[in-house]
Amino acid sequence: MQRLCPQGRCWRAGCKEVTGDSWHPVIECHRLSEMLTFEEARGKIIEEVGKRTGPRATASLSVWDALGLVLAQEVKTDREYPPFNRSTRDGYAVRSNEALPGAQLNCVGEIKAGDTVRDTLPAGTCLQIMTGAAIPADADAVVMIEHSSRDGDIVRFERAAQQGQNIVPRGSEAAAAQTILTPGMRLGYAELALAAQVGAVQLQCAQRPRVAILSTGDEIVLIDETPGPFQIRNSNSVSLAAQIRLAGGEPVVLGNAADRMDDLGEKIERGLKEDVLVLSGGVSMGKYDLVENVLKAMGAEFFFDAVAIRPGKPAVFGVCQGKPVFGLPGNPVSTMVTFELFVAPAIDLLSGAEARALPLVEARLAEAMKEKPGLAHFLPARVDWHDRVPEVKALRWQGSGDIAALAKANCFLVVPADRETIEVGERVSILLRKDVV
Ligand code: AMP
Ligand code: MG
Repeated sequence: MQRLCPQGRCWRAGCKEVTGDSWHPVIECHRLSEMLTFEEARGKIIEEVGKRTGPRATASLSVWDALGLVLAQEVKTDREYPPFNRSTRDGYAVRSNEALPGAQLNCVGEIKAGDTVRDTLPAGTCLQIMTGAAIPADADAVVMIEHSSRDGDIVRFERAAQQGQNIVPRGSEAAAAQTILTPGMRLGYAELALAAQVGAVQLQCAQRPRVAILSTGDEIVLIDETPGPFQIRNSNSVSLAAQIRLAGGEPVVLGNAADRMDDLGEKIERGLKEDVLVLSGGVSMGKYDLVENVLKAMGAEFFFDAVAIRPGKPAVFGVCQGKPVFGLPGNPVSTMVTFELFVAPAIDLLSGAEARALPLVEARLAEAMKEKPGLAHFLPARVDWHDRVPEVKALRWQGSGDIAALAKANCFLVVPADRETIEVGERVSILLRKDVV
């Protein structure tokens, strides 16, 4: 017989009857007692996933195709950088002790970027030089063209040149054979450009962790099906696939499981063949929220099953058959928030990188607000620049099912669990939506 959990926390068969008789049962709620803060929950994930990450399979990719991947090799310079003393301005290469205010020097030629430069600079002369060109021997400064005037070959200088000005010395950016990229670095545009600069056109990269997505719910239909009047399209599979890609994983969409132990069991079994399993729905207090029961029956160990956040409180993290498993609440915004907070760091670690910090920054609150204390809130919000200060405003929304509100947001306003009111002008934390800002 299904009994109501005495702690009012769940309805499920997982609640153990510890003592008592059939009239006065004493039931221990199967939910773990302590609700973690989101920081603690992330810490737990990083610790547990970190323990289980071994060396990853790698693949050789062209720099054109490696954006967002994690490097699995060292990259060294092929020569010094810059390879020659380089001018950073268009102007005149001079001896600094000759280019004094009012001084005149005879311009004896020009050096373009790419020119071979072997000649020295004779005393009393200057050479016109372009940005990116090599500095001739004996010149020790470049005077910007804007700070000179010219009449024929005679160049007149307006101000004193400083030794070394507008010159980047050879080898000052990197020495020859210096390691400039290391395993575990994520390849963004600058890292890829650096690899290209030194001629590392093929890069050994960690393969993307494969992340299984399993949605749950009797009401869920495929996105290309026409839902019945009380059915819902499987939008979570789409948001999760997008978030997995952005986090550096390879989404493996498994479809939807009905709210039945047998169907859930079969599909979870399939999901556990991938590196990580992410479930949406079926982890709340409802009678048909069976995900935890099924995972438990399959031998899962849970590290948390509730986090002090809204939306996303019923989020679950465990390890089942050696694989990290996330049970994210099914309300679309809850799924999105809990993915960013909890699944993204696991994907980082399984990619061979460190878990990236949350993109939390400070902004000035534009409108006073009042929230129920007890849970940290992540509210859809917009941050914009006003008088050179980021200013944030929470958007109107209908709660965690309101995808339309989130599509207008570029961040989440983070209201700490112990705050009830926040006044206009206070500094608040915002979690940036990295995909749109
Ligand atoms: P649950 O977490 O299973 O209690 O679901 C909470 C809410 O999210 C319900 O209104 C569901 O219909 C909705 N929901 C669950 N799964 C999905 C999904 N895959 N796509 C869109 N909405 C969903
Ligand atoms: Mg459900």
